[in-house]
Amino acid sequence: MDPRELKARLQARGVRTEPPAEGRRGGAGPAEGLSLRMGGVEATVPASAVFTRSSPFLLEGEGRRRVLKWGGRQLAEVEIPEAPLFYGLRTEDGTSMRKLALRHSASCLGSTVLQRCSRSPRCSFCAIDLSLSSGATTAVKRPSQLAEVAAAAASEGFEHAVLTTGTPDREEAGLKLLRDCSEAVRAAGLKVQVQCEPPRDPDLLEELASVSDSIGINIESWDQRIRERATPGKCDRSSEDYLRCWRRAVELWGPGEVSSFLLVGLGEDDRSVLEGARVLAELGVYPFVLPLRPVPGTPLGEKSPPPFSRMMRLYERVASIVQRAGLEASRVSAGCVRCGACSCITDYTG
Ligand code: SF4
Repeated sequence: MDPRELKARLQARGVRTEPPAEGRRGGAGPAEGLSLRMGGVEATVPASAVFTRSSPFLLEGEGRRRVLKWGGRQLAEVEIPEAPLFYGLRTEDGTSMRKLALRHSASCLGSTVLQRCSRSPRCSFCAIDLSLSSGATTAVKRPSQLAEVAAAAASEGFEHAVLTTGTPDREEAGLKLLRDCSEAVRAAGLKVQVQCEPPRDPDLLEELASVSDSIGINIESWDQRIRERATPGKCDRSSEDYLRCWRRAVELWGPGEVSSFLLVGLGEDDRSVLEGARVLAELGVYPFVLPLRPVPGTPLGEKSPPPFSRMMRLYERVASIVQRAGLEASRVSAGCVRCGACSCITDYTG
């Protein structure tokens, strides 16, 4: 099976593992699941959400190399990547580096610089609190700590980082922490994508642009009804606020270095996803289309991702929109578009 198709199928149905493999159960980004490598394609795959219990995919074996089966039939050999060496190190202040940043893919490191969010009600898919309450991470990452982690990661081959943040009460304070962390990580040798909400004043993005290579400003859904249901706390930012910030961001970072998530599976229809992708791509913003990742413990934790067939249809149509706009994932410096492990869109757009 084509590795891209296999990746889309695995992200739609998840995988069962025997014996159990270690994966993530909270946080931002690929907040639940396993990292897998298959045929040169890197994927984050749901492995502990409720819907994965009925998955036809089974990962068998011990160690890093496993056999992937489908209905008892051997499909492929897949690899669970080695844990990075920095997971075993501590910063000068004694903090485990694993609590500060995680491997997102072979070249990509990820960290949530502020692991708390003042938005209420919470976005229905967000798991930012879960890893904090389980003790897997710290509430606030200091720039000096992330500089140490980034230097250790760079020395073992990591090339870029995605830095996300919860939204604090004071917008300027949140952007200042993100700015300082980005500056520190970049000085340690990694390219950086910052991810944040659209600030009220788009000119606040200038400070971030001076210390980062790429930015994600994620609207999540193009359908206003879905935004109000799934991301009610963020709805004080209108679609006009997003448009203003994307335009300013493209001026500051350049076309393609700005991206937005378009989550599929929140109840929207294909037309809204395609319309969002078209508007974003024409602005120079890469539409990072990805399937909903239901995380146990969140309001959507019992749901399932959208079917594989829907995602394949959307990937193909969004890829042609992206290509027509002249955007290329392979030229993006840092972050989700460069990494691509949570979606197949960059496997299609190149
Ligand atoms: S696409 Fe990559 S960088 Fe983005 S959240 Fe997923 S694993 Fe992390």
